[in-house]
Amino acid sequence: MRIDLHCHTTASDGALAPAALLDRAEASGIGLLAITDHDCIDGYLAADAHRRDRQLAVRLLPGVEFSCRWSGMTVHVVGLGVDPAHPALAEGLATLALARRRRLGKIASRLAARGFDGALDGALEEAGDSQPGRPHFAAWMVRRGHVRDEQEAFDRYLGQGRPGDVKCFWPELETAVGWIVAAGGVPVLAHPLKYRLTRARLRRLTAAFAAAGGTALEILSGRQTRDQQAALVRLGEEFRLEASVGSDFHRDHPYGPRLGVELPPPGALRGVWERWCGERQPGVDGQT
Ligand code: MN
Ligand code: MN
Ligand code: MN
Repeated sequence: MRIDLHCHTTASDGALAPAALLDRAEASGIGLLAITDHDCIDGYLAADAHRRDRQLAVRLLPGVEFSCRWSGMTVHVVGLGVDPAHPALAEGLATLALARRRRLGKIASRLAARGFDGALDGALEEAGDSQPGRPHFAAWMVRRGHVRDEQEAFDRYLGQGRPGDVKCFWPELETAVGWIVAAGGVPVLAHPLKYRLTRARLRRLTAAFAAAGGTALEILSGRQTRDQQAALVRLGEEFRLEASVGSDFHRDHPYGPRLGVELPPPGALRGVWERWCGERQPGVDGQT
């Protein structure tokens, strides 16, 4: 069985609209899909409406990917099966939206100080329905002729160490996990190897995640070797976590992951998907 518990739509930084992503999942024979856009559930809501409308077979889980802080760095926690209408989720989403807006405002004012007025409105317009960020400031600067191309925008104004390199004030790891749990969801530590931590530091992060109430570790994220997966399974065993899997699909790319992963054989860890793969469960597919 193919499933995917981590992917993105145009509601955050993915390239496929929610309906197109769901059609892709259906055509790929994916049995269980969680849409996990960054700090937003609009993509899930649109996909769910499409699923009902077309009576698709793929089972769809509400999901979200929260950015948060741990030990001075940014980590991502996926929430699976959250209740889209729960106030705790709404609180989390509002907090993250505010953090993102503050960051955009700060980037715009730094650009204004260098003579580029109207950057915020310009970036918002470039972003349209998707989540605005630095690439949209870059696109606006190109359109206005402030720079030749987006590369120049990043090299001179938006890239690392440049005026537009503004960090977001994310919530703490414990806070993000707390929102997910309160909203009836299952917290998953996303792509643990992507943070490029030493083995000792990754153990500390996993320990902190488990202590905060985290449930599962993504033992398979995008493209990964068997050795990497085995190491993550051992880490999960040590902290009594479950396993989750997902492509982290954003867009079609020759070297990027495709939507959907083959369900790993039952191993040492319980699969987080077992909650939703058997009988119809309350909360999935809106069948409460
Ligand atoms: Mn992303
Ligand atoms: Mn991520
Ligand atoms: Mn992701």
